[in-house]
Amino acid sequence: MLFSFSVKLAESKTGSGSVFLRIKMSEEVRVRFAPSPTGFFHIGSARTALFNWLYAKHTGGKFILRIEDTDKERNTQESLDVIMDGMKWLGMDWDEGPGVGGNYGPYYQSQRDDIYRQYLEILRSKGRAYDKDGAVFFKVSGQKQVLHDAVYGDVERLEEKDFPIFRSNGTPVFHFVNVVDDICMRITNVIRGQDHLTNTNKHIELFKAFDAPMPKFAHIPLILKSDGKGKMSKRDRGALVEEYRQKNFLPEAVRNYLCMLGWNPKNDREIMGLPEIVELFDFGGIVKSNARFDERKMAHFNTEHLRALEPDKFCQLAQAALAEAGIGVDLSDPYTKAALLLCQPKVTDMENFAPLASFFFSEDFPYDQLSKEKTFRKGDPMARLAELSELFDKTDKFDVDSLHDSIGALAESRGVKPSEYFPILRYSLTGLSGGPDLLPMLSVMGAQRVRTRTKRALAELSK
Ligand code: GLU
Repeated sequence: MLFSFSVKLAESKTGSGSVFLRIKMSEEVRVRFAPSPTGFFHIGSARTALFNWLYAKHTGGKFILRIEDTDKERNTQESLDVIMDGMKWLGMDWDEGPGVGGNYGPYYQSQRDDIYRQYLEILRSKGRAYDKDGAVFFKVSGQKQVLHDAVYGDVERLEEKDFPIFRSNGTPVFHFVNVVDDICMRITNVIRGQDHLTNTNKHIELFKAFDAPMPKFAHIPLILKSDGKGKMSKRDRGALVEEYRQKNFLPEAVRNYLCMLGWNPKNDREIMGLPEIVELFDFGGIVKSNARFDERKMAHFNTEHLRALEPDKFCQLAQAALAEAGIGVDLSDPYTKAALLLCQPKVTDMENFAPLASFFFSEDFPYDQLSKEKTFRKGDPMARLAELSELFDKTDKFDVDSLHDSIGALAESRGVKPSEYFPILRYSLTGLSGGPDLLPMLSVMGAQRVRTRTKRALAELSK
């Protein structure tokens, strides 16, 4: 089905004649993210962008990036880049907007002055705009408007007072440009933060004054600080997308977590891949109550995504993390790959990855003091280590089953539990008290490396 509407622009003073704008609206969903660049990419903005993007993907529609840069002083290219880089990092590509163009540009409000002037003339011609004290005011209808919000339901409101749409310095006001652009860009669904709920009545008045098709509105809940006291602000820890990028979080994990801030897939699962989220995402799952930001939960999402990562991709990330710590590794070496993949199920984050895996790649790795205390808390670890060293000298069978059997037999012959061997064995091989599964690690390290390391430990730890 096609809807169309046309508006006649007032005869312009320059006599160029009347202009008709003919706007056709198909049923194709067109959503937009309309940031006002401030120099930060707040997770609240990222989530708004994401919900729009997901809705476009879910419906096969278009996602438009429009820059609401009417405040010229704050809107520098750098502050816009922060947003665009963040969006790209999170995998949100836009179908129309800066850098990609489109049929409904310009996509910067700072370049749309002529359009705003034309639309002002429409309102004047309808008797809905007038000048007062140098500013231009919009004349409200005097009728109650009902917002049918996809999340908050019907909200009825009377706009009592006329409001300015151009300031006395000639610059247009947010409500006006926002609506004009939504009309021009044929936006079908406005998905934005709940903080705009109170503005929407003014916007409905404007849409109606233009006789333009009304987009559907969906306001999404606020994101509160972790203590639930107030809205997350850019000063709160974890509030900026940049922070996660610097800490080497996986973008898909951040994206997954942001999805769950105010949206509930109703399937008792939260860790989800993108295709599934795209399939399930709809307004019915958006919750009305405010979402609470939880830094630990975000970290948990990251851990889960890291562990589920495709092996080659994980190895590349691990290689990069090690390189940052000054450790060069070669992924074409089967030992390197096997070692890194042993670490994958144990990884918590990439920021602290290198110290937990570097022992694989150096024979003079440090012995961690705290781990030592734990290891030496009970039993006679040095005696066990000497026995193990002797055992490893005698056997070449380093597959997991053989190791299991030979250490079991050793324990039995000495009348101790096999578990008495494990802490000191781990410590001698890694210098740590935790890490990859022990026997698979021995088998990856191989006989020679294990012998060398246990001998080094025997010499150094008995001092
Ligand atoms: N520039 C507005 C903002 O950043 C856009 C509001 C809207 O999405 O309509 O809040």
